[in-house]
Amino acid sequence: MYHFKTIARYHQDLQQGNTNCVNVVEGYLAAIDSAKNLNAFVEVFKEEALQKAKLLDDQRKGGAALKKLHGVVIAIKDVICYEGHKVTAASGILENFVSQYSASAVQLLLDEDAIIIGSCNCDEFAMGSSNENSVYGPTLNAANTAYIPGGSSGGSAVAVQANMCMLSLGTDTGGSVRQPADFCGIIGLKPGYGTISRYGLIAYASSFDQVGIFGKTVSDVALLLEVMSKPDELDSTMNTEAPAHAFTNYAASAKSTGYRFCYFRQMISHPSLDREIAAGIIATINALRKAGHVVEEQEFELLDYIVPAYYVLTTAEASSNLSRYDGIRYGHRSKEAAEDLTAFYKQNRSEGFGMEVKRRIMLGTFVLSAGYYDAYFNKAQQVRKMLVEKTALIFSKFDAVILPNSPTTAWKFGEKDKDPIAVYLADIFTVFANLTGLPAISLPLFKHSNGLPFGLQVMTNKKDELTLLKISDELMQQVKAAAKP
Ligand code: GLN
Repeated sequence: MYHFKTIARYHQDLQQGNTNCVNVVEGYLAAIDSAKNLNAFVEVFKEEALQKAKLLDDQRKGGAALKKLHGVVIAIKDVICYEGHKVTAASGILENFVSQYSASAVQLLLDEDAIIIGSCNCDEFAMGSSNENSVYGPTLNAANTAYIPGGSSGGSAVAVQANMCMLSLGTDTGGSVRQPADFCGIIGLKPGYGTISRYGLIAYASSFDQVGIFGKTVSDVALLLEVMSKPDELDSTMNTEAPAHAFTNYAASAKSTGYRFCYFRQMISHPSLDREIAAGIIATINALRKAGHVVEEQEFELLDYIVPAYYVLTTAEASSNLSRYDGIRYGHRSKEAAEDLTAFYKQNRSEGFGMEVKRRIMLGTFVLSAGYYDAYFNKAQQVRKMLVEKTALIFSKFDAVILPNSPTTAWKFGEKDKDPIAVYLADIFTVFANLTGLPAISLPLFKHSNGLPFGLQVMTNKKDELTLLKISDELMQQVKAAAKP
C-alpha cells in the first residue's frame, strides 16, 4: 500500500511514476475493508473511485497538468451532500435518501480532481460527542477500540486516523471536528464561520455549522481550505468580502518568534480538566515563551455560561431546522395508519428520529416557546454577544488563544451515554469558537499516560485562518519536540 505523507509528496510520486491513482485507491479500499470493525464508513464508493482514479492516471499519461487535488483520496461525513449518493445524517428519518445536488465544498474538491471514496459515520444530525448516537452503530477509536472516537464526526476522524483515506471532511457546530481529532491524534480544523460554504450541508444549527477538515499535516489541511474557501453565492452567510486566501502560502510569512498568545486562567484551572492535559498545555506555554513568543494569562469570567448558551441556541435552531422532516415530502414514513395529519407527523418523527435528536428538538421548542423565550433564548443571545465583545478585546491584544479541546481524553463506550448533561459539559472548551464564529484547530501534540492521544486547541481572530495555519505549523514542527510534559 502507498505510504501517504503529504499531497505534495504524493504528486511528486505520481509524476515520477513511483505510484498511480488506481494503486493508491485500491490500497485504501483494502484498508477500509480490513478495518470494517471500526465502522467508520456508511458507504464506500468503490467502483466510482476506481474509475476516477483510472481516468486521472490516463490524463496524466497524456501529459495533462495536475490540478491541486489530483487523485487526493477524501472521505466525507454523512451530512454533506454529494449528488447521486446517499446522505442520511446517520438518521433513520433519512434512510436511503439520495442527494439531489452536491454541496459547494464537495463540488470544489471534485473540480480540483479529488477522489471521494465514501461517506462516514457520525452522530445523528451531528448531535453528539461520541458517535454513539448513530443509526449505524458507533465508530470505534483505532487507538483503542474500547474507546469512543469522539463526535459527532467520529467516522471522518477514524478514516484519517486509521489510513483509510488521505483527508476527510467533517462538520463542526460545537466541536465536532476538533474533539474527535483530539481523541484520535490527528489535526482537525474548524474554519471561521462563513469561510466555507454551508450550501449542501444538512443543517443542525445554521448560525454555528461549519465544514471542517481532518488531516495529518498542516500543509494538506491548508490546501483543502484554500480549495473550499471560494466565495459562494449559494450561502448568503459566507464571507465574500475578500477573495479566497492563498492559504497554502502560510509558510512564506510565518514567524518562528514574536507571536502574542494568551490563555485563560479559568480554563487551565478548571476542575473538570484532566491534570495531564493541563500539564501538556503549560509545557507548551513554556516552550512558546522559550522560543521568544509572548504568552499571557487572561481572565474569562463567562466560562460557566458558554455550555448553557450553546445548548439553548443550537437546540432552538435545530428544532426549527428539523421541522422539515415530516415524512411527507421525503424521509421515513410510518407504516401505521394515522387518524389525522398531526398523528401522521408524530408517527413519522417518533419512528425516524433517535433519542438524542428528539431530546434536542423538545428542548429547542421549549426555549423558543412564548413563556420562556426571554428567560432562555434571549438570555443566551446576550451571552453570545458578550462573548463576541470579549473576543474582540482579546484579539486587539493577542494573535491567538491557546486552550484545551476537551477536559479528558476519549472515554469508554457506554461510560456517559446515560448522562447527556455530562456529555454536554465536556464541550466546554470547543463551543466558544462556534459561539463567536472564530477559526480554531486541534493539533495532535500529546500522548496521555493512559495511552490515548490528546491535542492542543488554538484559536485566532475572525477570518484569520492564515495566522492560525502559521502558528499551527510552528507548533507542530518546533514546539512539539520541546513541549513533552
Ligand atoms: N458535541 C456538540 C453537540 O452535540 C457538538 C456537535 C457538533 O459540533 N456537530 O452539539
